[in-house]
Amino acid sequence: MIDTHSHIDAEEFNDDREDVILRAKAAGVEKIFLPNINPQSLPQIEQLCSRHPGYLYPMIGLHPEDANPEQTDIEAFMQEMEERLQQAHQFVAIGEVGLDYYWDTTYRDLQLEVFERQVEWAAKFGLPLMIHSRSSHEDIVRIIGRHYDKGLSGVFHCFAGSREEAQQLLQFPDFMLGIGGVLTFKKSDLPEVLSTTVPLSRIVLETDAPYLAPVPKRGKRNEPSFVAYTLARLAQVYDVTPEEVEDITNANVAKIFKKL
Ligand SMILES: [Zn+2]
Repeated sequence: MIDTHSHIDAEEFNDDREDVILRAKAAGVEKIFLPNINPQSLPQIEQLCSRHPGYLYPMIGLHPEDANPEQTDIEAFMQEMEERLQQAHQFVAIGEVGLDYYWDTTYRDLQLEVFERQVEWAAKFGLPLMIHSRSSHEDIVRIIGRHYDKGLSGVFHCFAGSREEAQQLLQFPDFMLGIGGVLTFKKSDLPEVLSTTVPLSRIVLETDAPYLAPVPKRGKRNEPSFVAYTLARLAQVYDVTPEEVEDITNANVAKIFKKL
């Protein structure tokens, strides 16, 4: 069982981060991947991962909500990241990158430019993408489609879309859908969308901790150990055993995250 998307570097975990990691191990979580969001989070993520080699794995990227020139010297950080990628490094993916038009579209063009440059790095450096998409499905499909033949792979993180959207994303064979707590929510359409449209061979598990905790922890701070609730719900949705879900989703992770 692997949590492919977990922000355990976030301040929500400052008081008990090591306990959170111990609970994840006790729950059977074998690995945790940490997406980067901005220049401030990168050194924290690297330090944390270097304290837990073989268990925590860092990603590198600029999150679309941080593609904001009022807060971040974007060009300087982009150059820093590209230099880091050219050297020996531990990063298992380019992420968290993507587009987010939900709250604010002021910097839409900048988001697009920053995302597309990071998509090009994924091809150039042979790393998978960890993609965040909110109210931006069409642009995501267009940009990945434009670069797909360069050998892209990755995860569409926190997928919670329609059947049609799932089909459009699944047309990229080397991409998985990241499934988290939303699957367990009472009014979610996701069980229906997944069971009718998405084979288990295209799913990886995630928490997106500290956000989106699954039932029965909904509303609480999410943490990697809770990925077990999502796994259990997936087993129900696909009418297979939890062991099968675990084996298949682990194999899916191995297929995409080749550096492990
Ligand atoms: Zn995230």
